[in-house]
Amino acid sequence: MDSSPSDSTHKVLERVSAELGSTPTSHDVAVYLDKQDPLQHLRKQFLVPRVGDLSPSDLSLVDGTKDCIYFVGNSLGLQPKSARKYIDEELDKWAKTGIHGHMEGGRPWAYAENTLEDLMANVVGAKPGEVALMNGLTVNLHLLLLSFYRPTAERHKILIEDKAFPSDHYAVESQIRLRGFDPQQSLLLMKSREGEDTLRTEDILATIEREGDSIAVVLFSGVQYYTGQLFNMAAISRAGQSKGCYVGFDCAHAVGNAELRLHDWGVDFACWCSYKYLNSGAGGLAGAFIHEKHAHTVKSTLWGWWGHDLKTRFAMNNVMDLLPGVGGYRISNQPILLVCTLQASLDIFSQTSMQALRKKSKLLTGYLEYLIKHYYTRDEARPDKPSVRIITPSEPEERGCQLSLSFSVPILTIFRELEKRGVACDMREPNILRVAPTPLYNSFSDVHRFVHLLGTALEASKDLSHNA
Ligand SMILES: *Cc1c(COP(=O)(O)O)cnc(C)c1O
Repeated sequence: MDSSPSDSTHKVLERVSAELGSTPTSHDVAVYLDKQDPLQHLRKQFLVPRVGDLSPSDLSLVDGTKDCIYFVGNSLGLQPKSARKYIDEELDKWAKTGIHGHMEGGRPWAYAENTLEDLMANVVGAKPGEVALMNGLTVNLHLLLLSFYRPTAERHKILIEDKAFPSDHYAVESQIRLRGFDPQQSLLLMKSREGEDTLRTEDILATIEREGDSIAVVLFSGVQYYTGQLFNMAAISRAGQSKGCYVGFDCAHAVGNAELRLHDWGVDFACWCSYKYLNSGAGGLAGAFIHEKHAHTVKSTLWGWWGHDLKTRFAMNNVMDLLPGVGGYRISNQPILLVCTLQASLDIFSQTSMQALRKKSKLLTGYLEYLIKHYYTRDEARPDKPSVRIITPSEPEERGCQLSLSFSVPILTIFRELEKRGVACDMREPNILRVAPTPLYNSFSDVHRFVHLLGTALEASKDLSHNA
């Protein structure tokens, strides 16, 4: 089971190290892969924090002038350099022209977000008109559920992952109550098998087959935030729809990370935030998708003037001309400053493709996996040596860029020691470290340096525990 997945990564590493006359773990290999990386120039378009600027850094241990190792783009992406310029442009326009900014300039505030929707649609594999940029993610999830979750006595359940992101869990729970149902009966949680960390597609499909007649909505994440598992969205969509359910995805961790084909897969609805892999800054403008097959049958329940056709929106005649599909879900005018930061990021995405990003990503994450397994696989002969088990699927098609590492020792001191050395990553107690080398701005050298620092962090935390 373990041999096939990273085969292509292994082959690349073996080929490169043979060419260089070194070993797959040597630093030369990282340098070589960076030189060969056709996307390496994209990093220059981001502001990478320096080690010395991160508060936990201990400058007695590490050079403060170096770039930090930023492996937490799964929580908050880095700032595109053009974000500040775009914001300044709008502040200047506001200062100089006031209300005229609504209709003038490169980003007329009255419909600036519309100018990004095609770029966004491209990243998620949607058709123009299937995507709206608005609100925050959880707000959009609520708006979509108001339309897609119409429970009846027979069909009232929502199927979600057992350990769904808390906000999604709460949203679903409250939607069930809103409709007068009881989450005890109507919230169906998809659990992994005993002793397993991730969900098997076959089990998801079997659950849908078994329970489908009572399920109104199947709602999964695209990529699971905790385990990093990438779900088979096409298969889940087909299975749910064949049982008469609506199928939606929260793509918060999938957008800008995995290749999405929301339209082709026939997904009914989806939503995502833009501050993780899409780098729009905390609280950035979120996205929503409704498949065009529903454009004229599914309507927003909560109306506002921004859902009105733009052509006559400002006629102000109080006769609603609701845009078809997801466009009709817009309620308020969008914050232009958030449009600026999202544009800064989508501009960078438009210089490449998700296909190219994924290609690099598979190698980058495969490289990280290779090095971690090489150094930290549990050694039966040395049970005291801290070891790492990767809970993220090893099959590249079943994961994005993130690896979730489960340590044989408590994680807190290791995490602190990593932070002291200029690594930004994410910890979940008791023993999970989530690391996400993102193909837009992370390098193979970042990965190599991370694995080296992980070694010193483990050594240091061992010393600490002995001294304690
Ligand atoms: C990040 C994330 C959220 C956050 O919700 P906001 O409404 O943007 O605050 C919700 N759900 C998932 C799955 C996430 O990954």
